[in-house]
Amino acid sequence: MTESEWYSGAVVLLYVLAAVTFGLLRFITAPYGRHERQGFGPTVPARLGWVVMESPSGLGFALIFLASGGFEKGLAPVALFGLWQLHYTFRTFIFPFRMRVGRPMPVFVMGLAILFNCLNAYVNARWIGHFGSYPADWVTDPRFVIGSGLFLAGFAINLHSDGVLRRLRAPGETGYCIPHEGLHRYVSAPNYFGEIIEWTGFALATWSPAGLGFAVYSVANLLPRALDHHRWYHATFEDYPPERKALIPFVL
Ligand code: NDP
Repeated sequence: MTESEWYSGAVVLLYVLAAVTFGLLRFITAPYGRHERQGFGPTVPARLGWVVMESPSGLGFALIFLASGGFEKGLAPVALFGLWQLHYTFRTFIFPFRMRVGRPMPVFVMGLAILFNCLNAYVNARWIGHFGSYPADWVTDPRFVIGSGLFLAGFAINLHSDGVLRRLRAPGETGYCIPHEGLHRYVSAPNYFGEIIEWTGFALATWSPAGLGFAVYSVANLLPRALDHHRWYHATFEDYPPERKALIPFVL
């Protein structure tokens, strides 16, 4: 079996996992954060869980990209590498140390995330560094320009929204309140909304089945969780703003 055939199988698997994840999360709420509960085995501190499960995304991507000779492939692959690393350096090494940690994370959740992140890092890094072909003028192509802009806008929304949530807790506190700042005025999960915009932008900028696969997976994973958060807010707070949507302002 050639690597090309193997790679195609890995891309298909990304889409299959998106479908399976979406199906399962319609019936089972992922058991971490406010939805953490008994019955999912041993747990680790949430901060450790985030660092360990997200590490393959940035580090794995960097190793595969390097081994593929991606840095010699021109400006566009290097710029796409930079976008990916911008997100995952923050997610892996900054976000976990800033969060006001609440409940522990099941090892089971961490393990599944590690497996997915290894697959996703391979599929995307190998495309950008090897299988994909980006001419020198790709950086001025509207798909790259608009996609990168969307990625950065989504990153800013995600960062800001996570920051609003963080400031709801004093250090050492683990409770929940209703957020009212920024896009939280319009939706229950603006951090997920930002994340989905990011990976949609990345898919456009890479114009690849791999990038699209991750965008589709992000929707499959985060849409059900946004709906779960939304229902949880309504069940927990009597005065939760009734006009607020779950994920997409004014729409859903
Ligand atoms: P949540 O919105 O559930 O929580 C984010 C942080 O804010 C947690 O520390 C949480 O504490 C705290 N928090 C949330 N709501 C409140 C509130 N009302 N009052 C006080 N504190 C609150 O996000 P996730 O933990 O699911 O995800 C974290 C980041 O990772 C997000 O930016 C998300 O976009 C990203 N992500 C991306 C995925 C992808 O598929 N691309 C998958 C999963 C996450 P606690 O943990 O105690 O609930």
